[in-house]
Amino acid sequence: MKSKKPQKKSQRKSQKNSPKNSYEIFKKSQTLLVGGVNSPVRAFRSVGGSPPIIKRACGARLYDEDGCGYIDFVNSWGALILGHSHPSIVKAICEAASQGTSFGAPTKAEYLLARELQKAYPSLQKIRFVNSGTEATQSAIRLARGFTQREKILKFSGCYHGHTDSLLVKAGSGGATFGVPTSQGIPLAVVEKTRVVEFNDDEELEEVFSQEGKEIAAVIVEPIAANMGVVLPQKNFLQKLQKFCQDSGALLIFDEVITGFRVALGGAQKIYGISPDLTCLGKIIGGGLPVGAYGGRKDIMHHLSPEGGVYQAGTLSGNPLAMAAGLATLRELFQRGTYGRLKAKTTYFCERLQNILQKAQSPCQLNWTTGMFTLFFNPSKVTNFYSAMLSDTQAYARFFHAMLQKGIYLPPSQFEANFISLSHSKKELDIVLESMRHYFL
Ligand SMILES: *Cc1c(COP(=O)(O)O)cnc(C)c1O
Repeated sequence: MKSKKPQKKSQRKSQKNSPKNSYEIFKKSQTLLVGGVNSPVRAFRSVGGSPPIIKRACGARLYDEDGCGYIDFVNSWGALILGHSHPSIVKAICEAASQGTSFGAPTKAEYLLARELQKAYPSLQKIRFVNSGTEATQSAIRLARGFTQREKILKFSGCYHGHTDSLLVKAGSGGATFGVPTSQGIPLAVVEKTRVVEFNDDEELEEVFSQEGKEIAAVIVEPIAANMGVVLPQKNFLQKLQKFCQDSGALLIFDEVITGFRVALGGAQKIYGISPDLTCLGKIIGGGLPVGAYGGRKDIMHHLSPEGGVYQAGTLSGNPLAMAAGLATLRELFQRGTYGRLKAKTTYFCERLQNILQKAQSPCQLNWTTGMFTLFFNPSKVTNFYSAMLSDTQAYARFFHAMLQKGIYLPPSQFEANFISLSHSKKELDIVLESMRHYFL
């Protein structure tokens, strides 16, 4: 056995000052990181309490600094469809890292990942990789404006497309045509160009298009909304939307950052049989590393620099580690039967949960589709942002903490999707169901 090297004094000191458990670490973090986090929802503000600080994760389980384990229904907000530290992804990242971590020059892996994306999404005639979903949507909007030579964009209430200025907008009150920023620091001049319409409301859509259709550069939509909790599009809503776009010359942008490679190999566009002009991807296609992508019609993408006049660039775009993680993920997802399995797992879980709710005569609404679900503490059906907002967030917070106590890690907000990964075993799903049964019955 090797003898331990004597520690330097400074090393000993830093270990002594190092916080020991989740609570202490979070306290210390708050002195240096804003809210103790690097993305707001992680701070647990909408459910209260102090978040567990995560040390490691494997398969469907998270482990915190206190040694507690959790069955994870967040899965890095949907990015980890294969579960945590999947061996083939870890291997791919290590192999890529040993060859160099970034070149700022083209690589073969970029071509290979783009080819895999196109195999699943034929609408992606041309593709550009970026580093996040936000970058993808922001760039797609700029491209749409450049291509159409129009300035207005249209989005839907409750759909989230990252933290781009022009998309952090909610509907103005009482028939105001202007959107209102949902964050400080966004100029009114920016949001003036954004129209906001209720999801699933084709009458309101028709009104906006009849008045301003010819000025709209693009409509951006989560084809299955997942950022107000899971909300499915009603029958023909997306078809009507596409028709409005085609008739007015506006581009249709599907933000499939969550739904891409989750609800089906070919995403929501495959399920609904709609070929959007542009598509944004992220999360799953990076296998847990920071990646986004956007792409679509060749004639539109051709307007992007260096071929055209719409500028967009990135020092780390197409990063070799991220491309390797993405390729390894897609290789697994392309195997036959993958989405059948994911659908079966989700169906198994959600049907049983629905049963529990019925027996308990609970007013909760369960919205779900392949690989994700949201349990709304809400007596009415949730079909748009307005109805989602009627949820009892305090009741959700109580449920959330009861589950956390039992070792189940749900999203720390009512208005998020829960994700089921391919790594969730029947046994793990049963454990969660049992805890929920106890809670409701
Ligand atoms: C997460 C998400 C984004 C933003 O992606 P980031 O990588 O967090 O910037 C955009 N659109 C949708 C639909 C998302 O779920």
